[in-house]
Amino acid sequence: MTSSARPLVNRRLAEFGTTIFAEMSALALRTGSINLGQGFPDTDGPEEVREAAVRALRDGRGNQYPPGPGVPELRTAIAAHQERRYGLSYDPDTEVLVTAGATEAIAAALLALLETGDEVVALEPYYDSYAACIAMAGGTRVPVTLRPHEGAFRLDLDELRAAVTDRTRLLLINTPHNPTGTVLTRAELTAIAELAVERDLLVVTDEVYEHLVFDEAEHVPLATLPGMRERTVSIGSAGKTFSFTGWKVGWVTAAPGLVAAVRSAKQFLTYVASGPFQYAVAEALALPDSYFTAFRDDMLTKRDLLATGLAEAGFGVFRPAGTYFVTTDIRPLGEQDGFAFCRALPERAGVVAIPNAVFYDHREAGAPFVRFAFCKRTGVLEEATRRLKTLGA
Ligand code: PMP
Ligand code: GLN
Repeated sequence: MTSSARPLVNRRLAEFGTTIFAEMSALALRTGSINLGQGFPDTDGPEEVREAAVRALRDGRGNQYPPGPGVPELRTAIAAHQERRYGLSYDPDTEVLVTAGATEAIAAALLALLETGDEVVALEPYYDSYAACIAMAGGTRVPVTLRPHEGAFRLDLDELRAAVTDRTRLLLINTPHNPTGTVLTRAELTAIAELAVERDLLVVTDEVYEHLVFDEAEHVPLATLPGMRERTVSIGSAGKTFSFTGWKVGWVTAAPGLVAAVRSAKQFLTYVASGPFQYAVAEALALPDSYFTAFRDDMLTKRDLLATGLAEAGFGVFRPAGTYFVTTDIRPLGEQDGFAFCRALPERAGVVAIPNAVFYDHREAGAPFVRFAFCKRTGVLEEATRRLKTLGA
């Protein structure tokens, strides 16, 4: 213990407390509730990928420190995936960096690219680590709020343009977007790209849900748009795409200078991580298209099951075009405050969800919205919606 009255957590981090995901997963455990809060699947990914990890462990591949940038097999597989899916060509040696999940990629990118006082324009609501990492990097976040419009949360491009100042260093984009499920359109992304070029901004784009895009929505990687290849740090993750969130294998693809910059921070965070899992993810990325299609179709069925159930339970539902989250409006249930609602939900219905307000600086703008994850077994989703239907009773 220290005798000084000074708080132990520094001023940059003090406002963030414990992440909502830890808080809500602990609440689910404590109350025995169905956990539709933290976004992790309740079944593991493909057996052959799990076996690939076992094989790597047994063969002694990755049990000692892997190379700093990631094992060559994985860097090659990441580059091949970007080429095969999007026609983007990256040099595995200079333009790919393996990280401890997308979380470390985001942290390292912000720590490396920001000077104290630089402004970061980010889409609000934002994934919780963005705000904390911008703060740790000494940056200032400038939110641009996605607002409900005709059943989806939409970006106002004029607001985005107005948010850019002479102090803006980078745009932090996330599509498909957690927690709203919005997938930015090609037209919106083109406008973002034009703005970045015009104002000479860097772009960090979190595309971890790239394979979870539904209906007629299309995932357009920002790096494919004119002028973006050289200014964009693209972030991906095996956690969401292959349903192994515990493995913490993520990556960055970008031009050599940007990758070197991100690596300069990353080498002092974890240095390296996930050795044997890197080999397994290399095999996973090479799975045939049928894997990715079946994965998406399965999540689409689950989306419809949960979205329909939530609507029948009386929630306002924003049917997501991407991700595995449904954002709901609790006002039709006579509720206003998502925090209070989520804290009471285990007691009232035996279900845990996430209050979207935690992802906002403008907390009032997020107050009535609550997020439910649908990356769960069908029976679990059915039971959750059955319970939630008792709320209005
Ligand atoms: N970005 C977004 C938008 C997320 O939802 C998540 C959670 N998967 C992450 C980053 C972190 O990914 P990882 O688990 O690979 O660190
Ligand atoms: N990305 C997951 C979500 O949004 C949670 C990851 C985490 O717990 N940090 O629910």
